[in-house]
Amino acid sequence: MTCPPLEGERTADVVVIGAGYAGLNCAMQLAREHQREVVVLDAQWPGWGASGRNGGFCCIGGGKLSYTAVAKRWGQAATKSYAQTQRNAVNYVEQLLEQEGIDASISGRGELCLAHSRRAAAGFAAEAKELGDLHGVELQHWSAAQVRERGAVAQGCSEGLYNPIGFGLNPGRYVTGLAEKCVQAGVTLLGKSAALGVKPEQGRWRISTANGSVLAQKLVITTNGYSSDNLPQWLAGRYLPILSSIIVTRPLRDSEYAEQGFSCHTMTYDSRSLLHYFRRLPDGRFMFGTRGGLKASEAASLRVRARAQRDFARMFPAWVGVEQTHFWSGLVCMTSTLQPFVGPIPECANAYAAFGWHGNGVAMASHGGHLLADIVAGKT
Ligand SMILES: Cc1cc2nc3c(=O)[nH]c(=O)nc-3n(C[C@H](O)[C@H](O)[C@H](O)COP(=O)(O)OP(=O)(O)OC[C@H]3O[C@@H](n4cnc5c(N)ncnc54)[C@H](O)[C@@H]3O)c2cc1C
Repeated sequence: MTCPPLEGERTADVVVIGAGYAGLNCAMQLAREHQREVVVLDAQWPGWGASGRNGGFCCIGGGKLSYTAVAKRWGQAATKSYAQTQRNAVNYVEQLLEQEGIDASISGRGELCLAHSRRAAAGFAAEAKELGDLHGVELQHWSAAQVRERGAVAQGCSEGLYNPIGFGLNPGRYVTGLAEKCVQAGVTLLGKSAALGVKPEQGRWRISTANGSVLAQKLVITTNGYSSDNLPQWLAGRYLPILSSIIVTRPLRDSEYAEQGFSCHTMTYDSRSLLHYFRRLPDGRFMFGTRGGLKASEAASLRVRARAQRDFARMFPAWVGVEQTHFWSGLVCMTSTLQPFVGPIPECANAYAAFGWHGNGVAMASHGGHLLADIVAGKT
C-alpha cells in the first residue's frame, strides 16, 4: 500500500511510529473508539516490517518464558490471565477479519508441534496437560503412525502434539486490509517517513522526519524488531532483533505432497529452540521458515539462506530440486525480560509502547496494539 510521506509541520493527538499490526490496530481503535486524531509514520510503508512478511501462524505465544517461570514470578492467577490474553488475541484477529470483511485467506485450524528428539516427544504428555489446563482445551498427542496417517511427515521428526487453537492466514492481505480500514477510520498514514528524532516540547512530543515534523500530545512506539536504540532512549538494551527467514516453493501437485507424506494444511513447527515452521499454503505452495541470525549483511544473509535450504532438504527430501520461487527474511523481537511489553513507557510522560512478541506477533501484536489504544486514551 502506498502512502504519501510527511511534508512540513503538522499536529495530532497521537503519533504512532511503526505501521505493523501493533501500530495499525492501535491507531484504528484510537480513531474509531476514542475519536483521536492519529498520524502513523512508517519508515517504508504499512506492513513493510514483520507484519507483511511473516508465516501467517495466528496462534498463541508471544513470550519466551515458560508458563512455569511466569507462574513462579507472577503467580498462578496472573499466568492464567496471561494465557487467556493469548487466546483472546487469536479470537481478536479472527473477529476483526470477519467484522471488517478482510479476506486474509484463512486456512488450516490448530497448530502441530513435531518432536525433533526422543526427549521432546517424552515431554509432550506433560506439555499437553499444562497447556490443556491453562487454556481449557484438549491437546492431542499423536503417535508417529498418526502423524503419518494425518499427512504431517517431516524427516527427523516423530510424534506430534496438536493444539486446536489458531489458524493460518495471509499476512500481507491482513495488514493491507487493516491499513485500508485505518484510512477509512480517518487515520493519516504516512510512508517513507522514518522518525529520526523524538523530543519532548512543552508537554507534547515533537517527532522529526527528513522532510517535516509532527507535534503530538501522545507518542506510541510500535517499531518492534525494527526499533532504534534512541527512539526513545529507553529502548536501548531492552530489545534484541533476530532474523526469521522463509522459503516458498512453486505450487506442488497432490502427488508431490503424497510422495513426501506431508499433505495437511495444519500450521506445523518442530520442537527445536530455533525452530522450523512450515505450512501448505492455500494455492498449493509450501512455505518453510527458519529462525536465527543476528546480522543482516549480504554475506550473513547468504549463510542464513544456505542453512534454510539445507534444513529444508533434510526435512523434506522428496522436494529437493523443486523450484523455490521466493526467499525473504525479516526481524522478530526479543526483550530483556523475555516477555512482551504493552503500556506506558516508565519515566517518559505521555509515551507508550507495544513490542517484543518473540516471533509470535500475528495475534499478540494485533491485540497488544488494540489494548494499548485504550491505555493511551486513559482507560486502565
Ligand atoms: C519471517 C518472519 C516470520 C514470522 N512468522 C510469524 C508467524 O507465523 N506467526 C506469528 O505470530 N508471528 C510471526 N512472525 C512475527 C510477527 O510477524 C511479528 O511479531 C509482528 O508482525 C510484529 O508486528 P509489529 O507491528 O509489532 O512490528 P512490525 O510489523 O515489524 O512493524 C514495525 C514497523 O516499524 C517501522 N519502523 C521502524 N523504525 C521506524 C522509524 N524510525 N520511523 C518510522 N517507522 C519505523 C518499520 O518500517 C515497520 O514497518 C514472523 C516474523 C518474521 C520476520
